[in-house]
Parts: sequence; C-alpha cells; structure tokens
Amino acid sequence: MKTRFAPSLTGYLHQGHLVNAIWTWGLAQAMGGEVIIRVEDHDQSRARPEFLEALEKDLQWLGFWDLASEIQVQSQRNHFYQEAFEALQEDVYPCQCSRKDIQLFLEKHPEESSDTELRYPNLCRDNHNPLEKKETAYRLRLPHGERTFNDLILGPQSQNPWEQCGDFILKDKQGHWSYQFACVVDDFESGITNVIRGTDLLESTGRQLFLHEKLGNANPPIFAHHHLLKDSSGRKLSKRQKDFAIAQWREEGKDPKLVLGEIAFGMGLIPSKDAVDPASLGEFFTSYKP
Ligand SMILES: [Zn+2]
Repeated sequence: MKTRFAPSLTGYLHQGHLVNAIWTWGLAQAMGGEVIIRVEDHDQSRARPEFLEALEKDLQWLGFWDLASEIQVQSQRNHFYQEAFEALQEDVYPCQCSRKDIQLFLEKHPEESSDTELRYPNLCRDNHNPLEKKETAYRLRLPHGERTFNDLILGPQSQNPWEQCGDFILKDKQGHWSYQFACVVDDFESGITNVIRGTDLLESTGRQLFLHEKLGNANPPIFAHHHLLKDSSGRKLSKRQKDFAIAQWREEGKDPKLVLGEIAFGMGLIPSKDAVDPASLGEFFTSYKP
C-alpha cells in the first residue's frame, strides 16, 4: 500500500489539510503502507516560494515530514508530464476558447451545460485547422459514458465525465500542466495504490480513472474520499477557518501533538482534545485493516 499527501502550493497549510494528513497517515499505518509527500506546484502562476518554505516547516514541526518515504515536488518532474503528454497525442487537440467564449456558448445552448462545473462543450474538437496562436490550451478527447469505481469510504460510485466537464485541459494557455493531468501522471509513475482525499475532489475521480486507462495503467489506485472538517456547529469549515494557517500555531509555540489532537477531536476520532502522535494514527483506522 502506497499513498501520498499532496497539498497544493497555492496557500499555507490549514486545518483542512491536517484532516487529510490524519486520514492519509492513519490509513497507511493501519494498512501497513507508506506515504510520500507530493508538493503540488504544477500551477507556477500561483505557487510561491514562501508557501513551500512554510509547508516544509509545518510538516516538520507536526512530525509528518520525517514519516514520509519520499518528498516529490511537481515543478521538478516536468519530464514525466511531457513524456505522458506526448504519449497521448492522438487524443489531444488544441483549444483557444476563452472562459467567456465557453460561457456565451452555454448561455445559447443550456442543454450542453453541467450543474456542477463549467462544462467545456467540446467546441474545438473537430477543428482541424486551428489558428496559429501563441495562447493555446490542449484538451483530451473524452468518450461518452459512465465510469464506476468502488470508493473505500463511500462505496460504489458512478460518474460521467462527458456530462460533467467535457474534454478537459491537460496543458493550459500559459503552458502549465493541469491539476488532473499532473496528479494522474504522478500517481501512475509513483506506483500509488491508494488515493486518500476530501469529498471536494470526488467529482475528479471518473476523469482521472479515464486518464489512468489512457496512459496504460492496468492497476489504477483505489480511491477513498473522506468528509471535510466541520466546525463545532456542524457546518463546513468557513473561509476564515480555512485561511487560518497552521504556521500561526507553530509560531505561537503550541504543542504540535495538541494541534493534531484538536483536529482529531473535530473529526470525531477522540472524545476530548488530547495529544495525538502522528506515528500512532493507525489506531483510529483499524476498521480499514486489510
Ligand atoms: Zn476550444
């Protein structure tokens, strides 16, 4: 069993990340597996060096850094993405549509839109003579149909990427790899057997499974989507709570084990806010023992 903790480098580590860290290391320990830390900085327009510095300090302070079997940084892995992108050439096409173009089209053709996200109505799919333009994104041709998978936590799931998102972007107009693409290439290349993440990413799974298949991964990961942290009144974490950086607790000199205890309490894993050791998280997840 091999999994990963993969925070995106678009901000500071917050309480929601710790929920995911507890699930990730907890399941890995219960299942006798290993965890790699993957810094998701594929979007170089949003990643900043100060975020990376803080992330490393936070994870060292909490004890997760030393528990990881490997540290990966996406911006150092460009060759893997490039290689995979070339392997997909037959199913990739250039697209120069702007967000505005897509919105205008969907206003006129509401039957092409999706309830959950801005669906790309595959406008450039059959354009065999794209204009010579610098700013071109590249999209992957999706097939019609449902993708099913058995979520380790949520049970059987069925998704239809064609209806949800349409042909999705592998590389954007600025030349950045998309989240979906970089994530799948990394999971495949690293031999990840289990992906453990919040339900906010559940909708991505069908399209990621399709990408695994396209890349020739005969053993795609098993997915586990956990619930997100709720506040004391049972509501989803507010913007303010999400923006609260773990670094603040570190700088205040708080005991990191008590920080983990507070989050574990919020997740309903322990009856009171006691100290929690990152190396003993497996005990909360024994029901997932293989
Ligand atoms: Zn287009």
